[in-house]
This record gives sequence, C-alpha cells and structure tokens, in this order.
Amino acid sequence: MNDPSLPAIAANLARVRERMARAAASAGRDPGDITLVAVTKTHAWPYVAAALAAGQIEFGENRPEEAFDKFRGVPHPEAAHARLHLIGPIQSRKARLALDCQPVLIHSVDRLKIAARLSALAQELGQPLDILFEINISGEATKAGFSPAGLAAAAPELLALPGLRPHGLMAIPPFDPDPESARPHFVALRRLRDDVARLFPQGDWSQLSMGMSDDFEVAIAEGATIVRVGSAIFGPRE
Ligand SMILES: *Cc1c(COP(=O)(O)O)cnc(C)c1O
Repeated sequence: MNDPSLPAIAANLARVRERMARAAASAGRDPGDITLVAVTKTHAWPYVAAALAAGQIEFGENRPEEAFDKFRGVPHPEAAHARLHLIGPIQSRKARLALDCQPVLIHSVDRLKIAARLSALAQELGQPLDILFEINISGEATKAGFSPAGLAAAAPELLALPGLRPHGLMAIPPFDPDPESARPHFVALRRLRDDVARLFPQGDWSQLSMGMSDDFEVAIAEGATIVRVGSAIFGPRE
C-alpha cells in the first residue's frame, strides 16, 4: 500500500482528522458527531484503497458513472466496506444508476422533480433512500439547489415522498480561497435548517453537510455534521 506515486494519504487523513478534532473542541462539540467524507472524484482506485487501508470508510463521489465504475462495477473486495456518498448533481436519466451505486446518502437532491424520481425508483426497489436537500445558499445563478424559500414551499411535498428519508441540508458556498468568506453561507444554511425544523417538525433535519478542504474548520465551528474533503487528503485534481 506504499505506492510511492500516491500522495501521503494516511498522513493527510490523520492531519485532517486532527484538524477536525481541534475545530470541534474549539466549538465545544463532540468530534464523534462529525463525519468525514473523503472525496475521491477523478482519483483512481489505488487512492481509495490507500484511504481504506488507513481506516477511512466514508467516501464521496460526484458523478454516478464514476462512482459505480470505481466502487461497484469492479471486483475490489475491499469496496464492500466503503460507504459511498453521492455529492454531485443527479440528472433524471442517471437516477437509476445513482441507486445502483447503493449510496448511504445522496447529498445533492436539488429539485422536486429529481426527488420524486428517486423516490419512485427507491420504492420500486423496496429500499428507502437516505438523502439531503442541496440549497443554493448564495443565490448564485449558476448554482444548483433549492432556494431557501423554494425549500420551504416544497417541503410538504418533499417530506411526503414515500421512497425518501430526508435528513437535512447540504450547500456549496461560492469558491473563495479565504475560508472566512464561507462563514456567512454556513451560518445561513444552519439558520435555514433551524427554520425548516421548526416549520416542519415531522422531518429529520439533523444533518448539515458543509465544508470542504479550504473551509471545513469554519464549517465545523458553524455546525457542520458532515464535511466533504478531497484535495486535503488526496492532493490536487487535474
Ligand atoms: C469535489 C467536491 C468536494 C471536495 O472538494 P475539495 O476542495 O477537494 O475538498 C466537496 N464537495 C463537493 C460537492 C465536491 O464536488
């Protein structure tokens, strides 16, 4: 597992976990309440294998095709131990493939239409699907996700979909190398969660998926329960 062409994945993982623990402690939070999803998109199987060997179990991919090929379509016996999170946009025609990935959580349900489609497919399979709603928290025109008002408007319908088990919200703030610039967006996502939890107490809104390599410590300070970290563990992507 010490392929010299790979970055120091075990050491990087240990460093990220240590930074997470320190951020949790500063915020008076239990580090055990925060899940690290290691994002392996664009990286080949040996990167996943190295992380698995270092004890990492939760992995994230943003494209269903790549996720399936890497984790489910190949005979890597260790892949059976990996818990796969889908974190990218799901097109309607890829919904079936997304379910075939057997994700433990889809973070990126970003509109009612795809929610309904995933629900119908999950019902067909007789297996409820655990999901988060992606929120366009910055209101950028190019970003996917429910607007905050759109989520509140659609929530009764979303929560009634029989194949889905929603657990909370996810967001991707605008890219900015300064982690502090993400803080107001993380605060806004947490407040939206608090609002919908009050308005729709029949739902589970416990999870907040926010924070990436550049800003996961700020996200933890603001209440993240799941951070999605790629390059800080696996190095830069092409
Ligand atoms: C790629 C990706 C990440 C990880 O990004 P890094 O900056 O490499 O940590 C997190 N979330 C989503 C949705 C992504 O697509």
